[in-house]
Amino acid sequence: MTSFTKTLASAALTASLLAAPSILLADGTIGISMPTQSSARWISDGNSMVEQFEAAGYETILQYAEDDIPNQLAQIENMITLGVDALVIAAIDGTTLSNALANADAAGIEVIAYDRLIRNSAHVDYYATFDNFEVGVLQATNLVNGLNDRFGDVHPWNVELFGGSPDDNNAYFFYNGAMSVLDPLIASGDIVIGSGQMGMDTVGTLRWDGSVAQARMDNLLSANYTDQDVHGVLSPYDGLSIGIISSLRGIGYGSGGVAMPIISGQDAEVPSIRAILRGDQYSTIFKDTRELARVTVGMVDALLDGGEPEINDTETYDNGVVVVPSYLLRPVPVTAANWEDVLITSGYYTADQIE
Ligand code: BGC
Repeated sequence: MTSFTKTLASAALTASLLAAPSILLADGTIGISMPTQSSARWISDGNSMVEQFEAAGYETILQYAEDDIPNQLAQIENMITLGVDALVIAAIDGTTLSNALANADAAGIEVIAYDRLIRNSAHVDYYATFDNFEVGVLQATNLVNGLNDRFGDVHPWNVELFGGSPDDNNAYFFYNGAMSVLDPLIASGDIVIGSGQMGMDTVGTLRWDGSVAQARMDNLLSANYTDQDVHGVLSPYDGLSIGIISSLRGIGYGSGGVAMPIISGQDAEVPSIRAILRGDQYSTIFKDTRELARVTVGMVDALLDGGEPEINDTETYDNGVVVVPSYLLRPVPVTAANWEDVLITSGYYTADQIE
C-alpha cells in the first residue's frame, strides 16, 4: 500500500480533501468500496485488490463501510468527488446506489459490481463474481451427502433453512440454487422442514448477522425440537453457521450421544474450518478472493485502456434495468476430506493459521 492509500484507507476523508477534488489523485486511481471488515473474506478481497491493482501500476483508495448503508454511500460519493477513474463496489444493500452511480457516470467513472450485483442502475458496467446459483447447489448437495453419512439410518431427515441478507442479490441465488436440490427431497418426504419455515422472506438473515441466526435457531429449537432431533441446517455463510452451532451446542447437540446436525456454510473462514475439523460444521464453500481480484483488475485495466473486459455470462444478472455483463468464477466445496488440498496446498492459508 502506498502511504497515500494508507491515509485514505484508515481515516474518514476530510473536508479539506473534499475541497480539492481530483488534484490529489494520480491518473489511474481506483476506488474500492467494501461492505465490512467483520468477515475475513472481505478483508482478503480488499487486500488482494490493493496488491494486484498496485502491481498493475494503479493507485488505490480502499474503504470499508462496516455494514452501514449511509456510510458506504458517503464513501462512494467522496471517491467520485476526488476523481477516481474506476469504482469497484461490493454493495451492502444492492438497491441503494442508483444516485451515486448516476454521479459516477456523469463524471465518466467506470463501475464494476464486485461479488454482489448492484441493482436498479444502468450505470453498472461489469460484474465480477462467482457462480452464485452453483454455490447454493453445492451447499445443498453437501448437506444431503452429510445427511447420508451421519444419519443414513434416519427417515425422514428434519432440516431447517437459513437464507442470507434479503438486500443482497446473491442471497436469492444461493437460496434458489440450494432449493433446486432440496425441493425434490421435500416433495418426496425424505426431508421435512420441522418448522415449516421456507422462502427468503421468512428465512432471510438481515446483514448476514451471526447473532440473528443464533437467536432464530434458539427459537426454532424451542418451538419445534423438544421431542425430536434436527438433522440438518442449510446455512449460506460461515458466520451464520458459527451462530447456529453455538445455539445447538447450547442445548446439548454434539455431546452426550446427541449427534450434531449437518451444517453447511460459505467462504472457508478460519473459525469454520476449525469447526469442520471438530465435526461441528460439515462443509463450506471456498471462493478464491485472489482470483476474483484478478478478474476485477483485468476488467478495470481493459476498460481504462479502451479495451473489452473478458466475460463469460451475458444472461444471468439482470439488475432490474440492464443485464450486466459478467465473469463468473467457480466455487469449490470444502469438507474435512479435502480442506488441506483446497486451502493449504493452494497457499490460501498456511497450516498454522488453522491450528
Ligand atoms: C457473498 C458471500 C458472503 C456473504 C456474506 C455474499 O454476498 O457472496 O461470499 O458469505 O455475502 O458476507
